[in-house]
Amino acid sequence: MFSRRAVIHGLLGAPLAAWINAAPAWAASDDVAGADMARFIAAMPKAEYHVHLEGTLEAEMKFALAQRNGLDLPFADVAAMKASYRYHDLPSFLAIYYDGMKVLRTQQDFYDLAYAYLAKAASQNILYAEIFFDPQEHLKRGVPMAAVIGGITRARAAAAAQLGIVSQLILCFVRDLSVESAMAALDAALPFRDQLVAVGLDSDEKDHPPVKFAAHFAKARAAGLKVTAHCDLNQKDIVEHLRQAIIDLRVDRIDHGGNILESPELIAAAKARNLYFTVCPTFSGTVRGDAPPIDVVRGMIDAGLNLTINSDDPAYMGSEYLNEVLVKAQAHSALTKAELVRLQRNAFNAGWMDEGLRAACHAKLDAFARAEGVAA
Ligand SMILES: [Zn+2]
Repeated sequence: MFSRRAVIHGLLGAPLAAWINAAPAWAASDDVAGADMARFIAAMPKAEYHVHLEGTLEAEMKFALAQRNGLDLPFADVAAMKASYRYHDLPSFLAIYYDGMKVLRTQQDFYDLAYAYLAKAASQNILYAEIFFDPQEHLKRGVPMAAVIGGITRARAAAAAQLGIVSQLILCFVRDLSVESAMAALDAALPFRDQLVAVGLDSDEKDHPPVKFAAHFAKARAAGLKVTAHCDLNQKDIVEHLRQAIIDLRVDRIDHGGNILESPELIAAAKARNLYFTVCPTFSGTVRGDAPPIDVVRGMIDAGLNLTINSDDPAYMGSEYLNEVLVKAQAHSALTKAELVRLQRNAFNAGWMDEGLRAACHAKLDAFARAEGVAA
């Protein structure tokens, strides 16, 4: 019902247009019920809150940007590059992720990257997105903050005007770099404060707890920004990290956070604050530890927590964007259509958007649910 086909022009046009307009995953399915569920998910109006812009840098675009910027890549072709995306934990994933973003050099590179994600999102009926970016990694390479935020901001405006998708931007601190590096990035970004909605915390959290960034969060809050933090699944000291984020720092949202299922006290605290969790089932869908594995999505729904489902770093996760992630999550966690609608209702409630847009998003979701005969 919100079928929008992106029109992409310019240097990166042809391969991007083919990728954005690729046949949906369910088209080849001969499973009638599965195809119906995938159709339902694709048509449902959606929002996304946990997607790293640099994690949407597809191999095809890396080659195009490397060529434009006169850089050599140590791969013969796209297939060889994609074959190198082998990781087994967060640090081994991050090594590939940070290496890949070295092709991003100019404002136009950030424009092309952001516009491509937003066009893909719009083609999947995502009405609204809040997007992470990691400026410290770009500042390290000598790319000015103005080029990073300027390119993304131009793309957000173009995508809103041309495709109708509204988006906002969340500056993430790379938690395994120094506190000085993070503060320098925040100071460099504050002149562009109107282009940001929040700060976040991502990357390798082993021995980098949320309280390391208390001063940064306080400064961001004083500038009127929201605060969110990754509490990635099954990391060292993860329940303590959740406690710091929820109790000590009183963050406005949690990214991942599935290990809260190990702490009835923190579940109660999160529910008392009506806290939202941006869950990404692709990377690791179960809480481990001593007890039998718990399905994060099902466990959090059953615990009465507010969660949304998101894609995280789709270019490094089999090019699975939100529709594909939702199809897998639905099957894995046996989600009903009513639960899928409720998850999107959560998503529209979770956003740091203006109330007029929120009401419009809810109205579209309500109309969709009525047309599908789903009471949610
Ligand atoms: Zn993430």
